[in-house]
Amino acid sequence: MIVAMQETATEEQIQDVIEHLVRMGFSVHRTTGERQSILAAVGARVDFDTRNLEVLAGVEHVHRISAPYKLAGKAFRPEGTIVKFANGVKVGGDEVVVMAGPCSVESRDQLFTVAEQIARAGARALRGGAFKPRSSPYSFQGLGLEGLKLLREAGDRFNLLIISEVMEISQIELMMPYIDIFQVGARNMQNFNLLRELGKVRKPVLLKRGIAATIEELLLSAEYIMSGGNYDVILCERGIRTFETYTRNTMDVCAIPVIHKLSHLPMAADPSHGTGIRDKVAPMARASVAAGTDVLLIEVHHDPDKALSDGAQSLYPEQFSKLMDELRMIAPAVGRKLAPAAQLVRT
Ligand code: PEP
Ligand code: MN
Repeated sequence: MIVAMQETATEEQIQDVIEHLVRMGFSVHRTTGERQSILAAVGARVDFDTRNLEVLAGVEHVHRISAPYKLAGKAFRPEGTIVKFANGVKVGGDEVVVMAGPCSVESRDQLFTVAEQIARAGARALRGGAFKPRSSPYSFQGLGLEGLKLLREAGDRFNLLIISEVMEISQIELMMPYIDIFQVGARNMQNFNLLRELGKVRKPVLLKRGIAATIEELLLSAEYIMSGGNYDVILCERGIRTFETYTRNTMDVCAIPVIHKLSHLPMAADPSHGTGIRDKVAPMARASVAAGTDVLLIEVHHDPDKALSDGAQSLYPEQFSKLMDELRMIAPAVGRKLAPAAQLVRT
């Protein structure tokens, strides 16, 4: 951390700041220039608030150099994290893994129809909410346990991993036998009690960026999960709220290379929630692969006009298939490839 003192700072004020830093556990290196004193504070401590220094008399500016997260930071695992699954799928390596499916699990027919279509097109995981965080309490809230059972059955039938959203601590145990990846939704990115509990489980977590969260806040939320010992975290850009109203959210594609530079964790991109409009999903999916995403999370519905949630942003199965063909061409252009389609289980 660098503390730049004001030109007018007195020797007493400078000594006071130095004592403060030493009390916080830093070793301090002072440089006295012609006009200004600069204090370089070195130490391993991450849990300090720079504002406590900024308010001291004589301080002009405080600049934090090291990141406030450690386990999620690149230096912890410079080689990168690869999240491995029992069926051979690897997230974070050379392959781009596509996870697709409806916003919510609505019925057996719906789920099995969509699951077969996305598996044939080459997706490796089936998404679908059994517990739905809806903006209105009057909207469809999900099928709960019945939805989880359908997900597992469809996953086994079509050789797909299952990803589904966990909304509260009490659902973790209930979900464990049915899912392969816990999804933490945008609205829960800073539900720190939930994140701590997910740190204790040994299943991967896909952590979505909150609608008004900075990248640093997303990484600090990942740190909560990792500090419990669960290092299999996939970060997900799903659009943030800006002043733009044309799209539902603003898809921050740039978060992908930014996070890849700051963190060893794999990145997912969700252009469905990122745009909220069906015909904008494919362009943003293509852009996300070009920008280096490790995972794409895409909403697909066989009859989106009748979907109980997020129909307007769900792709028709044919659109999804076409997108997959395009991604197969784009990925090699940036040194990646699409994870090969799974073998379909015979019935
Ligand atoms: C979802 O994936 O359907 C969902 C509710 O996502 P988000 O948390 O990004 O809004
Ligand atoms: Mn949705």
